[in-house]
Amino acid sequence: MSTFRKHVIQPILDCWSLLVGLKITGKYFCKPQVTVHYPRQVIDDENLSTYGGHVELIGKPKDPAMPKCISCMMCVTNCPSKCLKLVKQKAPKPTPEEEAAMKAAEEAGEKVVKPKAPKNPAKFTYDYTLCSLCGTCIDNCPVKSLKFSNNIYWVASSREEMNIDLIARLKEQATQVSASAPKAKAQKAEAEKEA
Ligand code: SF4
Ligand code: SF4
Repeated sequence: MSTFRKHVIQPILDCWSLLVGLKITGKYFCKPQVTVHYPRQVIDDENLSTYGGHVELIGKPKDPAMPKCISCMMCVTNCPSKCLKLVKQKAPKPTPEEEAAMKAAEEAGEKVVKPKAPKNPAKFTYDYTLCSLCGTCIDNCPVKSLKFSNNIYWVASSREEMNIDLIARLKEQATQVSASAPKAKAQKAEAEKEA
């Protein structure tokens, strides 16, 4: 490198890159703050809607405590981390009367309709400590029964607590929603009255 380039050109180039950096810093320094100063500030619904926490079940529109899940096992078999466990429901045992009716139908050569197992799972657990949040289970569920939670404030103090009973969580959420519904309705009516 020539002496002129070393002592004149290079220092100018160095200063120029410094000025470019300062310009970018200054631009963002003057923009409104987009981060939340937690816990002094509460995270708003818009930010919560884009948060991808642990996996959880989605309830049926008419019965939010009942999962849409049909126990197809697609999510369980495709999970790369093996963190989902599902137990299917068994078909209800026929009563003695039903058994007698089925036997009679069989003997008469009629088609026997045996009781079927309900489609919703008997047990569905999820180990958050193993989950890589890859989304494979959510993307492949045929009935769209899984989603990432926006449960941003959830904390656990042990590994056991992070093994979530998904059915119990869904029921708890449905209870909370139904409990807060009259309050929300009253607030809306109040707001409409004031308007
Ligand atoms: S997000 Fe990925 S790792 Fe987590 S439970 Fe679903 S498939 Fe498994
Ligand atoms: S959550 Fe979806 S993919 Fe998993 S078992 Fe239920 S229906 Fe199948």
